[in-house]
Amino acid sequence: MFSSVLIANRGEIALRVAKTARRLGMRVIAVYSEADADAPFVSFADEAHCIGPAPARESYLVTQRILDVARKTGAQCLHPGYGFLSENAEFAEACAAAGVVFVGPPPSAVRAMGLKDAAKALVEKAGVPVVPGYHGEIQDPAFLKEKAYQIGYPVLIKAVAGGGGKGMRRVDKHADFEEALASCQREAQNSFGDARVLIEKYVTAPRHVEVQIFGDRHGNVIHFFERDCSMQRRHQKVIEEAPAPGMTAEVRAAFGKAAVDAGKAVGYFGAGTVEFIADGSKGLRPDGFYFMEMNTRLQVEHPVTEEITGFDLVELQFRVAAGEKLPVVQEDLRIDGHAVEARLYAEEPERGFLPSTGRLHALRLAEGEGIRIDSGVIEGGEVTPFYDPMIAKVIAHGDNRDEALDRLRDALMASVVAGPKTNTRFLAALLDHPDFRAGKLDTGLIDRNLEALGAVPPALDRVAVTAGALALVAEEKARLHAAAIARSGWLDDPFTEADGFALAPGRRGIARVVAEGEAIGVELDAACEAAPGASGDNARDFTLVGAEDALYVLDRGRQTRIALADPLDVSFDDHGTDAGGNVKSPMHGKLVALFVVEGEAVEKGQRVAIVEAMKMEHPVLAPRAGLVEGIAFEAGAQLGEGVRIMVIAEG
Ligand code: ADP
Ligand code: ADP
Ligand code: MG
Repeated sequence: MFSSVLIANRGEIALRVAKTARRLGMRVIAVYSEADADAPFVSFADEAHCIGPAPARESYLVTQRILDVARKTGAQCLHPGYGFLSENAEFAEACAAAGVVFVGPPPSAVRAMGLKDAAKALVEKAGVPVVPGYHGEIQDPAFLKEKAYQIGYPVLIKAVAGGGGKGMRRVDKHADFEEALASCQREAQNSFGDARVLIEKYVTAPRHVEVQIFGDRHGNVIHFFERDCSMQRRHQKVIEEAPAPGMTAEVRAAFGKAAVDAGKAVGYFGAGTVEFIADGSKGLRPDGFYFMEMNTRLQVEHPVTEEITGFDLVELQFRVAAGEKLPVVQEDLRIDGHAVEARLYAEEPERGFLPSTGRLHALRLAEGEGIRIDSGVIEGGEVTPFYDPMIAKVIAHGDNRDEALDRLRDALMASVVAGPKTNTRFLAALLDHPDFRAGKLDTGLIDRNLEALGAVPPALDRVAVTAGALALVAEEKARLHAAAIARSGWLDDPFTEADGFALAPGRRGIARVVAEGEAIGVELDAACEAAPGASGDNARDFTLVGAEDALYVLDRGRQTRIALADPLDVSFDDHGTDAGGNVKSPMHGKLVALFVVEGEAVEKGQRVAIVEAMKMEHPVLAPRAGLVEGIAFEAGAQLGEGVRIMVIAEG
């Protein structure tokens, strides 16, 4: 076995590889970009070397910098993880030339499977079923259009050099073909530097079923069963599981043989995944699946296979790279229960799945029976815009599928993430979706059910806002109280006079807050408790996480960010909290100025008075446009919080 490894990757996968390497007794060498200096995979390593600035093109993708570190440190082998340089044959060759063992397949196999068209042609020859279509060399648009017609719509245009779900266009009608082709070619050229495409029949009710294979340098190739990755969005995996729902021993044997044949066709060794598309309209069948592509590396979702087989696939990668034989034969492999993985992302499903970066004020991922967490960030760390915004992979194992799904859903819902928004609730909803539960899977399930899965703009959670406002007001009171005691030296000052939030008994006040960017007033009573009806009847169990600039109110994967409004913010608009046009004192204090007279016309938001409290002036704004009526005080009067100063009548 090797005595040292350089891990040419970052985040959760760098940490996951490092843990196995350490267990196998290796010295762990990390490389990192400036943005990752404080990342857990860096501190975990025995030594770590900075290889450049944040953008991957200037760090994680620079062969020379990485190999310089390998030489300098004397690393015996290099593990590329997934993404980055993991499927780059030139990189694998450069490693060999530098005397470092590349923990991966032979460069020839990487190259053979690198382009989807060549890969299809190659495995087809080995008798593996491929998706019907055209994967030849001719790229003339008229010719391709004719091919699409012959294949029959719907078809899928795919970049031959594509990856990560990019460079694909589904076309349903002959008339739409040219435009889709042009846009696919543009994207392919921009993303992969290669505009060439192939055309495939779009498989109906498609299910993504892939097979984990493993080969050694002694000619053995076996498979570690299948994973179902049909839960996708934009052709990217969201939830993966093993085994595939509805799989039978007979169909599994057909999938396994096709995958192993594909591997043998390229002299494969190491870990690889053969991806198939299955026609799910009539259930999984031995003749109803087709080769799509092969990924010549460790896959993001490899943990579900580890959970059902009991093998550490990274350990096997190291053993194979060191020249050892596979420690197991096909007949000895067994499936134990069911495993499912969810990719927990810093993103907002409610707003088109926009990435949501920033500091993780809290990160408490729920552990539990059968739960495994592969994460690359920690509380206090940051999700940066430079890389994939994945926070963690949460993996659950159970005796059966329902148990695994329940465990994963519970773990997600019990997790606390404050700061970036996450897809936690979306994932949990997906795990509970009746079709998903029933194993009625296809790659369109998510897109068809966005609303049911909660991926729509949410209404503000008023109960959470009230809970947050109460906590913030209590904190502010305590702070003001402490400050007053410090100033006066009196310990028994009941503090009702100077306290900006204290109310006369029986009166109500409004805490002005900004929640999720929306300025609103929350009605509180004299004891600074929520006014009846303001919080709803159901007391919910919130987790509150305070950060420098805001309070995060968390409830089962949902986050409401709330802060006290700046009292001097004249743009603050708490109309709507009083539809009657009442102008109330925002706090206990002195009315130092009145800017309007009876019958005067005012604009919405116009300053009508100033209330002074704690030596600070607080503008009072008209809640709507109208005519001033019922001025109840003269300048100089003492006001309680929430008392009516005047009314703006609709005029
Ligand atoms: P999987 O099937 O394992 O999800 P993908 O092809 O989607 O495989 O990509 C695996 C990982 O590699 C993902 O995290 C993805 O963001 C990353 N990735 C994919 N393509 C590239 C690329 N060209 N450069 C860098 N990273 C990539
Ligand atoms: P990538 O390299 O981006 O992973 P793939 O060829 O693996 O590209 O395809 C990605 C996804 O697109 C698949 O998981 C599947 O959901 C969908 N897909 C690919 N080919 C087809 C097809 N012929 N019919 C239906 N869906 C397909
Ligand atoms: Mg793929």
